[in-house]
Amino acid sequence: MNVIKQEDLIQSVADALQYISYYHPKDFIDAVYAAYQKEASQPAKDAMAQILVNSRLCAYGKRPICQDTGIVTVFVKVGMQVQWEATCMSVNDMINEGVRRAYLHPDNILRASILDDPAGKRANTKDNTPATIHYEVIPGNKVDITVAAKGGGSENKAKLVMLNPSDSIVDWVLKTVPTLGAGWCPPGMLGIGIGGTAEKAMILAKEVLMDPVDIQDLIAKGPQNRVEELRLELYDKVNALGIGAQGLGGLTTVVDVKIKEYPTHAASLPVAMIPNCAATRHIHFSLDGTGPAVLQVPCLEDWPKLNYEVGEVAKRVNLNSVTSEEVMSWKPGETLLLSGTLLTGRDAAHKRIQDLFACGESLPPGLDFKNKFIYYVGPVDPVRDEVVGPAGPTTATRMDKFTEMMLAKTGLLGMIGKAERGPQAIAAIRKHKAVYLMAVGGAAYLVSKAIRNSKVVAFPELGMEAVHEFEVEDMPVTVAVDSEGVSVHASAPKIWQAKIGKIPVIEESS
Ligand code: SF4
Repeated sequence: MNVIKQEDLIQSVADALQYISYYHPKDFIDAVYAAYQKEASQPAKDAMAQILVNSRLCAYGKRPICQDTGIVTVFVKVGMQVQWEATCMSVNDMINEGVRRAYLHPDNILRASILDDPAGKRANTKDNTPATIHYEVIPGNKVDITVAAKGGGSENKAKLVMLNPSDSIVDWVLKTVPTLGAGWCPPGMLGIGIGGTAEKAMILAKEVLMDPVDIQDLIAKGPQNRVEELRLELYDKVNALGIGAQGLGGLTTVVDVKIKEYPTHAASLPVAMIPNCAATRHIHFSLDGTGPAVLQVPCLEDWPKLNYEVGEVAKRVNLNSVTSEEVMSWKPGETLLLSGTLLTGRDAAHKRIQDLFACGESLPPGLDFKNKFIYYVGPVDPVRDEVVGPAGPTTATRMDKFTEMMLAKTGLLGMIGKAERGPQAIAAIRKHKAVYLMAVGGAAYLVSKAIRNSKVVAFPELGMEAVHEFEVEDMPVTVAVDSEGVSVHASAPKIWQAKIGKIPVIEESS
C-alpha cells in the first residue's frame, strides 16, 4: 500500500504552480506557432508573435506568462489502495498550502487574485487560496493530480445551456462564441461538456481543457465516432467565424475544440462551454509515495525563435506631449509605440473614483488624469531588479460603465486595455473624441519590458489594483476604437468571416 506524505503533496502542488506560471504546455505553443505561420491577417499574426515571444521570455526568465496568474483548479483522482500519512491536514488543506507556497515564492512571486466574501467585501486572501478542487476515487495505488491556473478573463466567458434534446449543439456554439467577445484572449481552446446534469456538464467542460492539443492528429486520421466528428465540425466552423487572435479578425480563433460527454436524462441536453486563453496553463503528475513529483523541464530550444518587430509603419507617440488633435488623427487598426508616462487603474480604482465624485470630493493629491492615458492593468509584484512584474492588459469591457465618468470628469485622453468595448463605452469615446488602444492579452512579460519606471500614486491599499504611474518606452498598442467610435473588434471579424467564406455573413440589425 502506497503511503502519500503530506509534504510530498504540498511541495508537488507548489512546484506545479510555479512551473505552469512560466512554462506554457509545449503542445499549446506548437499549435499557436502553427497558427501564426498560416495566419493571413497581419494584426492577428502580430498578436500571436507577441504571445510566442512572451512565452519564450517567460520560460527563460521564469516569470509569469500573464499578470493574471489565475485561479487554481485541481482535479484529484485518488487510488482506492493508497493510504494517507497520519496528519491533521485535510487533502484540501494540503493543496491550499501548496498554492500558498507557490504564490508567495520569493523568486517568482505570483499575483494573488482570489477574493474572499465575493458578494460583499471582496477582500483579497493575499496568497491566492483557496483552490477549486474536484475529487474522484478510482481503483489503483496512486494519486493522479492535474493542476491548472485559469485566467479570470477566460473563466468569465464560461457558458451553460440546457438545450432541448432535438436542438443543435453546433448552432448553439456558433451563436454563442461571437458573444464572448475577445476578453478570453484568443487564440485558445474551447472545452465543451455535454450531458449529465448542469453542474456535471460544467465540470466536464473544464476537465477536458486539461487534455493535450491534438486536433491536427484527428484531422489526419479522421473521426472514429460522433464526438470526434463534432470536434472537427466545431473546430472548422468556429474558426470560420473569423474572430481571430485577440478578436482582431483572422484565420485562427481556436487551436482545438475538446469535448467530453456523459449520459443524461431523456428530457435534457446540458451543454457547457469554457474557453481557455492564450495563457493556457496546466500540468499533470502522479504521487505513489516515493516522493514529490518530478516535473520535466522542457527543452527551451524547442520554443519558436521569433522576434517581435512592429515595423516601419508603427507611429511613435510621446505620451507626455500628446494632444487631442493627435489622438483624433489615429486610425482603427493602426499600430502605435507609446513612450512617456501613463496611469494605471482597473475595477477597484474606478469604483473608488466613482465614489469620490459621488460624494463631491476630488481625486487624491498627486492623481491627475488630465491629458493622460489610463492602462487597465493589475501587475504582478516585481522581483530582483525588475521595475514591475508582468503587466499585461485586463479586459476593458468591465470598465465600460466608468468610461463616460472618466472622460467627462478627469480630462483623460484615452484608455488602454484588452478586448472590445461595448456600446456604452464607444458612445462615450465618440462623444469626447477620445480613443481606446489595445495591448495583447497573454503577452504580459513582454509588455513589462517596455516599462522603465513604476510608482504607486493613489490607493496603495488596493494592492495590485492601486493606481500606478508607469513610464514606458516603445510600448506597442493597436488603435481599437478611434475618436469616431469605429471599433476594429466589430469590423475585423466580419471582414475575415466573409473572407473565409464558409459561413454566410449575418449583418446585425441596428
Ligand atoms: S491571457 Fe487573457 S484571459 Fe488569459 S489569464 Fe491572461 S489576461 Fe486573463
